[in-house]
Amino acid sequence: MKELTDLTTREASSLLQRGVISSMELTKASLEIIERLEPSIHAFITLTTELALKQARAADLRLKQARQDKSIPLPPLLGIPIVVKDVLCLKGIRCTAGSRILDNFTAPYTASAVQQLLDAGVVILGKTNTDEFAMGSSTENSGFGATKNPWDINRVPGGSSGGSAAAVCARYASLGLGSDTGGSIRQPASFCGLTGLKVTYGRISRYGLIAYGSSLDTVGALARNADDLFLAFKGMAGYDPMDATSSAEPLGDLNLNEQIDIKGLRIGIPKEYFIAGVQAEVNQAVRAAITLLESQGAVVNEVSLPHTAEALPVYYLIAPAEASANLARFDGVRFGLRATQTSMIEMYKQTRGHGFGSEVKRRIMLGTYALSAGYYDAYYGQAQKVRTLIKRDFDAAFQAVDVIAAPVAPSTAFLFGEHTNDPLAMYLEDVFTLPANLAGIPGLAFPTGFDQNNLPIGMQLMGAPYSEGLLLKTCHAYQQMTEHHLKKPALSTLLSTR
Ligand code: GLN
Repeated sequence: MKELTDLTTREASSLLQRGVISSMELTKASLEIIERLEPSIHAFITLTTELALKQARAADLRLKQARQDKSIPLPPLLGIPIVVKDVLCLKGIRCTAGSRILDNFTAPYTASAVQQLLDAGVVILGKTNTDEFAMGSSTENSGFGATKNPWDINRVPGGSSGGSAAAVCARYASLGLGSDTGGSIRQPASFCGLTGLKVTYGRISRYGLIAYGSSLDTVGALARNADDLFLAFKGMAGYDPMDATSSAEPLGDLNLNEQIDIKGLRIGIPKEYFIAGVQAEVNQAVRAAITLLESQGAVVNEVSLPHTAEALPVYYLIAPAEASANLARFDGVRFGLRATQTSMIEMYKQTRGHGFGSEVKRRIMLGTYALSAGYYDAYYGQAQKVRTLIKRDFDAAFQAVDVIAAPVAPSTAFLFGEHTNDPLAMYLEDVFTLPANLAGIPGLAFPTGFDQNNLPIGMQLMGAPYSEGLLLKTCHAYQQMTEHHLKKPALSTLLSTR
């Protein structure tokens, strides 16, 4: 049999339900690999070992009862260990959002998406590292140190959900939760050779997600294949009265196991995404994947998304503007860190001055400026209008095609420090991912090859709102024909000998 930590969610679920393995065994195997690899990877901000053991015990009890009484439902995620990005609240557990300003903040309630999974019986191993308030593409902006990419520990795992990506890649767990505001699930999935889903805006509740850019934020997951991701998606999706933007759109009868017919699937290639400046191997691998789908009967056509070039400036006005408003609440009064000063204004200043890192401060300044009287119309107002044009580009494209195929990021995982002195170079990481957030549509990243440094290359499928099922099915079909998603980094070289 495979090592317990190499099992996919689906495989582990089947073994758990048949009583071949227990959730406790699975959880202990995860904790063991974490202990050995974590000194090299640093995927976690907070480990929740006690909680995990307690949840595993409870899951085993539920599994046992359900085996004895067939009328008790067995959710597929019952007893499965997962990791949770540290922007999602879990009651009674520290939640930092990667920021020192929340170093001592304990979540007073649990995020709805996490609660749905807890109700299904998952085991939470810990809270994973992230760029501070999810602002970044490498985890280098975390107030708790950077996470390393298990494929090459000199390189970033991507970000901001880099902790969850590294954890799933290093076999700590088969599922990791993340958030995606401009690419933060898809880009780390791409850098770590994983499959990552950014859902339609509103598809999964944001209640209990620490807000970054509220009109862009989505909760999603990373896994080693589309099938596991489908289980996580199904577990978290759905209407939530606690999130005013949550959608009541029915999930439909999702089932990846039914025969997927690629024949006739209309794939659009947006010419604006296949441009100079993209690593040649990335282009080649994405093209090769499209050709493979074409050989199975997909119909491939070029499409145009004319406002693609505007997406980056539009995003970097809207996201910081919304962030500057959302982060106003961290002033030392209600949450986390409070500087001791004589006057209240001094206390605000000291708390925010010491608590926030430099990228967060940069964004607060950009956002505050964009929203300030006299500039609002020129910046935020204008950006909202162009955002509508970007959305219309996608609406028009989805009249002609079912899915749009593109690279996830211009390159494979970069080295630590490569972009830290140049914010613009870092922002350019998101050029292919943030249009989906501006348009509110789903995007799925998955591996399509490796570059000459043996680093994973990712590609992205985008679809019309609520087409997560189609994206996952298409990816599942691709993964049944290919093996890129099965490759594993040489973890033994990272083992700690402590
Ligand atoms: N890298 C982008 C940013 O810094 C996206 C981050 C995200 O999706 N949370 O804003």
